[in-house]
Amino acid sequence: MGSTGKGEGVYNVVVIGAGTAGLVTAAGTAGLGGRVALIERNRMGGDCLNFGCVPSKALIRSSRVAALMRRADLYALDPVKPLVDYGRVARRVKALRARLEPNDSVERFERLGVDVFPGEASLESAHSVRVDGTLLRARNIVLATGGRAVVPDVPGLKEAGFETNETISGGRTCCTARTRTSRRWCRPGWRRTACAFSSAAGSSRSSQAAPRRTA
Ligand SMILES: Cc1cc2nc3c(=O)[nH]c(=O)nc-3n(C[C@H](O)[C@H](O)[C@H](O)COP(=O)(O)OP(=O)(O)OC[C@H]3O[C@@H](n4cnc5c(N)ncnc54)[C@H](O)[C@@H]3O)c2cc1C
Repeated sequence: MGSTGKGEGVYNVVVIGAGTAGLVTAAGTAGLGGRVALIERNRMGGDCLNFGCVPSKALIRSSRVAALMRRADLYALDPVKPLVDYGRVARRVKALRARLEPNDSVERFERLGVDVFPGEASLESAHSVRVDGTLLRARNIVLATGGRAVVPDVPGLKEAGFETNETISGGRTCCTARTRTSRRWCRPGWRRTACAFSSAAGSSRSSQAAPRRTA
């Protein structure tokens, strides 16, 4: 009996989204002997690896070290004002992410027996999904498409410019004007993680603007 090729036949499961949820679903299905396809339009690993848990914790770590250096007198040491080079911090974030990337990579998942399809998935029916030119058929379809930052409808926001966890962590603007913009992270509504970093790492003005510090 010939084996069914990639994209052919009927999969037990087609998973849309290779974030934490999609990766676990795909690996679990393959581990149980099921035929599974995994579709990702952006980066394998989704938010957690690329724009969420990993980069934010790396940023927070640098922020805390900077804060400790400033407050070293609390620990009977001479305090120092750290020289914060956001480019270096961003490169460390990138390096940490790169170290973890192989765990979520296409190669690893293909080795586990998952057929990985890069591209934008769209539902064609209850049992079929299109990704680019390929139509995948499945008994079950799992939508593991996660969530995105909502940009509030504030007049002038677009013109003023804004960051989200994706732009901060994704490297698109990471190493450029971030030191200058750290002050802007502390406007009302910005995430605690961004404020936590900027309050410790940014200018004295940013420290004053920080609404609160993280635990
Ligand atoms: C700043 C920040 C810090 C966080 N810190 C932590 C933490 O410390 N601990 C923790 O447990 N959680 C943390 N989280 C939450 C964690 O990142 C999410 O809970 C987790 O990533 C959700 O995984 P998911 O698989 O549901 O979705 P996602 O990771 O968002 O993955 C969904 C994937 O689907 C893809 N996709 C969407 N639509 C399509 C389509 N039509 N075709 C193809 N692909 C598609 C997307 O590109 C994406 O890669 C943090 C989140 C943020 C933003």
